[in-house]
Amino acid sequence: MNSKKSSLKDLIYKNISFESEESQFLLMMRFYYIITALYIVAFYIFAAIAGILKEAPVLLIWLPLHVACFFTTYSCGRRLVFHIFSGGILTWLIYSVYLMGEDYGAHYFIYPLMVISFFATYRNFKGKAVYMIFLLALNIAVYFYGKGHEPILIITEQQGNVLNIMYTVTLFVCMFVICFIFSNTNQSALEKLNIYNRNLKKEAETDALTGLMNRRCMYKALEENMGVTDTVFSVAIGDIDLFKKINDTKGHNFGDEVLKQLADYLMKYMDEKGIVCRWGGEEFLFLFPSCNIDTAYSYVLEMREHIEKMPITVDGDTITVTMTFGVEEHKAEALVTELISKADTKLYDGKSGGRNTVVK
Ligand code: GH3
Ligand code: MG
Ligand code: MG
Repeated sequence: MNSKKSSLKDLIYKNISFESEESQFLLMMRFYYIITALYIVAFYIFAAIAGILKEAPVLLIWLPLHVACFFTTYSCGRRLVFHIFSGGILTWLIYSVYLMGEDYGAHYFIYPLMVISFFATYRNFKGKAVYMIFLLALNIAVYFYGKGHEPILIITEQQGNVLNIMYTVTLFVCMFVICFIFSNTNQSALEKLNIYNRNLKKEAETDALTGLMNRRCMYKALEENMGVTDTVFSVAIGDIDLFKKINDTKGHNFGDEVLKQLADYLMKYMDEKGIVCRWGGEEFLFLFPSCNIDTAYSYVLEMREHIEKMPITVDGDTITVTMTFGVEEHKAEALVTELISKADTKLYDGKSGGRNTVVK
């Protein structure tokens, strides 16, 4: 039982990749063929009981043809699969009306065909519109043909009712499968797009090495703060002291690890106080919203004191680093660059004054 289940599943899902739109189409066609194959089997049982199979033995090739069409989904592209499918349905539909008249709902199968045709090709409005007109004309022609033509097989009203129910159920199940697969595909594609966009946005705002906010994102945050009149806020810029020496003596990878560990601390410290970004190589910029220079200065002092004592261990090798900071409060500066440049000047005062200090 289990192996039967899994071989049917293999048959349906063979070569199906959920990433590809083409696959979704082929998957839907396979479900469609399986449902309609069940219909054909039910029709054979009905026809055998009604005794009409003897009168139209040509119907017996219907199932093998159907199975052959199913296998086109393994080797043909979606356009060809669709043309074979469309040709098959239309031939059967016309033959069915020829056999039994148009009272038994065969022409309703034009509707799923119409829906499927929209998914069979990419944006090709003209092609789709022409196909729709063709189906419409065919539908009308089949109707009038059925009306004026004496059916070959005469079935009773009761048998007609059974046939109608069989058509209706098959049609509903087919439409359900079509709608389910395509709504699912659309929704999961939208979901994926949202996640992708969110990741993309995060990547665009994040520094790859440290995971801190990057310069561009901080720039935006600063501009937003500047845009609000009468807002007090301060910034600080910090630079690792003699970092070149660390790179030279311990190697670049070691230097990277130092940057990461330091960034982790800065991010944790700034949580709820403001934001920090990696401004450049080993420079960090801090934004303290609603803080005057004295409050910002006290925070930065606290960081500096912590950093000089903070052990940074890489592969068992432990060092400490120091940082120099310049702090500035936003006053009348109109440009972000003006404000940063003032903080920068203070940073360099700190560097020339001997490093490991905060200048305000
Ligand atoms: P100072 O105290 O005057 O700041 O001295 P310094 O050696 O730190 O001088 P400076 O700030 O000019 O040097 C920065 C160095 O940081 C130079 C560069 O090799 C290194 N650096 C920049 N970005 C990275 C990085 O992503 N990884 C590593 N490992 N090093 C970096
Ligand atoms: Mg430095
Ligand atoms: Mg520097």
